[in-house]
Amino acid sequence: MKILVINSGSSSLKYQLFFMDKSIVLASGLIERIGESKGNINHKAGEKKISKENEVRDHTAAIKFMIELLCDPEDGVIKDKSEITAIGHRVVHGGEKFKEPTLITEEVSHAIYEHEPLAPLHNPANLTGIVACKSFFGEIPQVAVFDTAFHQTIPPEAFHYAIDNQLYEKHGVRRYGFHGTSHRYVAQHAAEFLEKPIQSLCLITIHLGNGSSIAAIKNGKSIDTSMGMTPLEGIVMGTRSGDIDPGIIFYLERQLKKPLNEIEAILNKQSGLKGLSGTNDMRDLLERKKKGDRKAELAFLIYAYRIKKYIGAYTAALGKLDAIVFTGGIGENSIDIREEVCKEMKVLGIEIDENLNKTESRKERSIHKIESPVAVLVIPTNEELQIARETRSVLEKK
Ligand code: ADP
Repeated sequence: MKILVINSGSSSLKYQLFFMDKSIVLASGLIERIGESKGNINHKAGEKKISKENEVRDHTAAIKFMIELLCDPEDGVIKDKSEITAIGHRVVHGGEKFKEPTLITEEVSHAIYEHEPLAPLHNPANLTGIVACKSFFGEIPQVAVFDTAFHQTIPPEAFHYAIDNQLYEKHGVRRYGFHGTSHRYVAQHAAEFLEKPIQSLCLITIHLGNGSSIAAIKNGKSIDTSMGMTPLEGIVMGTRSGDIDPGIIFYLERQLKKPLNEIEAILNKQSGLKGLSGTNDMRDLLERKKKGDRKAELAFLIYAYRIKKYIGAYTAALGKLDAIVFTGGIGENSIDIREEVCKEMKVLGIEIDENLNKTESRKERSIHKIESPVAVLVIPTNEELQIARETRSVLEKK
């Protein structure tokens, strides 16, 4: 069975074609600068790489390029698009309606559209990809896999904000959480790695990429997560502030005399690591820190400290802790961040092994001391494979 996974952004389209029987990627690609006069098309199939500059007028044109590359008579990996059994789409916001991956019908497309106010940048772009695929793939089943769905098990005491209840009832103001596909994937893989049923485990999964979030997972179900109604809440991110006193927003409005949308942009795009140190890239930040840059040093400490606080809070929420799991570009690769986060955490049963932590690898691994009561794992995430698996699971239920 071959499943195509699509992640459609406002001006980009990422795709991966999986051969599910072996969980391998047959081809993948990224088409960027859609709608501009010069678009970038990058396609990879095994060792073969193709890069082109070409105008990509819209998402429909992007899908057309993708199909041509996948079906190319010389370099293609399939003969015809009909070899694709199903298409799985990443959809950012499913609100309270979508708790599971869902077969896309007219009604489902409409519901994704209706969730636009909750994810104004993402849901319309995701929908554009769905509509463009429909025009080429006709009756091939398409499935929406929602970033928010995994967190729909969070109980009311964790998802409500302490504000007028009508704001929840009428406007849907509550914690939804994001990165659900990644948290689900690494939690499942952590359980397999530990050779224990996920139904018996209490895990804290720590996804550290450009956007970052932490989830508390009890018996396989998310019971809390650090991102909230929007991806702005939680730990420090590349350019997002994470948790702040909401009073700061009103103070800034008065002091800076700027409209709210500009303050929103400051918190989303000029804050986090970038605001603290001048760079949003953790590799740059670590380089600067090594050279004695004080701002980079402080940003590093703030970043790790916030993660520590969440680990403490989620351990209390879970009632026991079997493992913490690092993932995402920073979680998988940064020895320094993992070390700083796990430092002096014996009180929670977390004891990292310095040498194991320093061993570089792309594989799933444990980095705790033998005597550590809590396992510390590094599990590389694979959101595309998870979307492909969830897409297959919807077909199997049909
Ligand atoms: P995205 O959220 O866009 O998918 P990634 O998960 O790829 O992002 O993570 C990007 C972050 O990972 C960047 O801050 C980058 O600097 C960081 N990163 C990647 N490799 C390393 C490394 N070897 N050491 C430290 N940070 C790294």
